Amino acid sequence: MSTPERLDRFMARAAAAYYAARDPFGAKGDFTTSPEISQAFGECLGLWAAVAWQQMGRPDPVLLVELGPGRGTLMADALRAVTGVMPAFRAALRLHLVEQSPALRAVQAAALRDAAPTWHDGIDSLPPGPALILANEFLDALPIRQFVRRGDDWRERFVQAGAFVEATAEPAPPLPTEAPEGAVQEICEPARALAAALGARLASQGGAALFIDYGPARSGFGESLQALSAHRAADPLASPGSVDITAHVDFQAVAEAGRAAGAAVQGPVPQGLFLQALGLVTRAAMLARAAPAQAGHQLSAAQRLVAPEGMGRLFKALALCHPALPPLPGFESA
Ligand code: SAH
Repeated sequence: MSTPERLDRFMARAAAAYYAARDPFGAKGDFTTSPEISQAFGECLGLWAAVAWQQMGRPDPVLLVELGPGRGTLMADALRAVTGVMPAFRAALRLHLVEQSPALRAVQAAALRDAAPTWHDGIDSLPPGPALILANEFLDALPIRQFVRRGDDWRERFVQAGAFVEATAEPAPPLPTEAPEGAVQEICEPARALAAALGARLASQGGAALFIDYGPARSGFGESLQALSAHRAADPLASPGSVDITAHVDFQAVAEAGRAAGAAVQGPVPQGLFLQALGLVTRAAMLARAAPAQAGHQLSAAQRLVAPEGMGRLFKALALCHPALPPLPGFESA
């Protein structure tokens, strides 16, 4: 029998192997993300960054950072949009991409050649200065730990031969003292560490970070580990590295870690309301009028992103930012 591996270590190993080798996005891949559904998504996030830059007092230069840029589609759409409406922001920004996968770095290099990006393995090597940071479906890929309530204790889940085994919990952040028997508590330590590091950075050097991902607004019990292969649910433990493994993002935990580090928190707001406030539906209607042959596709793509029964409610937007910033675009009513 192989030795049991703590779930987060299993997930980290599986994710690194999975992304290192492939471009998993789109109809031929394993899953589809918002920027691959509609160009209006990246365009709206570009305009979000441009307005936030104005609210910051138009620092020049300014870092534009994307965490986990996938195919580079979101950023290519964002840059095209800001070039048109706010060329001063386009001229001031310096593009930095945080991406571990060599295969995806190559795809990003082709998509973003004109913007001459600099790549990083993590946020620690980003240069100092005011920054605008975008992250779509990045946090959900970070490894989680799972704890199971047994009696008055928490046990921890390990993976052995494709199945969970429970063992004594290793040192962990504080867990709830009361929980129903069998309750599962998930903790994503890298997401909390990232929020703390970015929160401290934004509070001292200025800027804002926008996270869009799926998960509940408030922390709670429940297990959400899932895997997708060719757009179908798959066993997350069966074949590490060959399927996409994600988990719900605990937005409350991310917000608390950012706030504790000195940042202000805006949101979370449901993605549907956020994107509508940014004008995504209007933009999709413009695209539909400009290319009638594609109109049906444009409008149904926008609907998928904003409708509550699509991605509009489960997905949320959350911002960490410098405490002096006013409400950022899309968060005015939050
Ligand atoms: N934002 C893109 C891609 C989401 S998939 C989109 O919306 O389409 C997750 C992305 O994060 C991939 O680019 C993956 O290679 C990257 N990634 C996952 N874990 C990472 C980590 N620990 N460090 C850096 N990049 C990571």
